[in-house]
Amino acid sequence: MNICSGNQNTLAEETLFQGVGLHSGAKISVRLKPARPDSGILFRRVDLPGHPVIAARYHHVVDTRLATTIGSEGVQVSTIEHLMAAFWGAGVDNALVELDGSEVPILDGSAAPYLKVLGRAGISAQAVPRRVLRVERTVLVRDGDAYIKVTPAHRFSVSYRIDFPHPLVGMQEFFYEYSQASFHREIAHARTFGFLKDVEKLQSMGLARGGSLDNALVFDDYTVLNQDGFRYSNECVRHKVLDLLGDLSLAGMPLIGSFEVHKAGHSLHNRLLREIFNRPGSYGIFRAAATQVPFFPHASIPSSAFPERFQPVGHPL
Ligand SMILES: [Zn+2]
Repeated sequence: MNICSGNQNTLAEETLFQGVGLHSGAKISVRLKPARPDSGILFRRVDLPGHPVIAARYHHVVDTRLATTIGSEGVQVSTIEHLMAAFWGAGVDNALVELDGSEVPILDGSAAPYLKVLGRAGISAQAVPRRVLRVERTVLVRDGDAYIKVTPAHRFSVSYRIDFPHPLVGMQEFFYEYSQASFHREIAHARTFGFLKDVEKLQSMGLARGGSLDNALVFDDYTVLNQDGFRYSNECVRHKVLDLLGDLSLAGMPLIGSFEVHKAGHSLHNRLLREIFNRPGSYGIFRAAATQVPFFPHASIPSSAFPERFQPVGHPL
């Protein structure tokens, strides 16, 4: 399957998972539900009056300091990026994510547990072709020596480079080109990472309360504290690719272009999307050609399986 062609997908069935929020430390339950074609990924806070819904779109990003947080009319959902990357990697276009707290559970700090949950739900093709955003002119965003440049291409690819002054990290570069198998194999298992001195500082500020060696790679000045070490020798840069995929999925449709990324983070990932959408001449949106095979075992769903009608807060485009 190619994420840039074929029909849209949703989940075949509802499914549930639980875990702690990385920053709040709160235990949060999440229910994933099928959604109608062209809904995109929607987050619904079932712990708040009226169960407000926020569409997972780039223009709803309100904070990128520690994770990607979306918000609208005072309602927020944070740390959405790894789950969003899993939806992207599994080719899920439309889903409703109901949660009883303000943060998506971190699980093991990678996208792999979410992929497993999506596999359990199954993926179902819908009768509407995908929309695809094709980059047609080079777009560049920069912050100091960090930058992202996207140039026109025939497919999606990313070349990501990081440089941390740590003996086990240093300069790492990773080239990634989409396929579902490659997402699972090369990207999905890469965990978020942090440095002990930063974690201690965050925890003294009441943040990263749920952070532990079970859900992040943690480095002290010399080594990695996780007993089992790395899942990939260059796990850090692969995780940055994972973050980028999750953040770019907030375009609301797959992107076609060649991305060159240097020392970026959630903030610059989001600025790139804003820059693209601010320049109408830099992209085109197309309906993809039909026919595709879902990645996970197919199950058709009756229309009664869709959630009741709802009005997303600030519906996109
Ligand atoms: Zn991350």
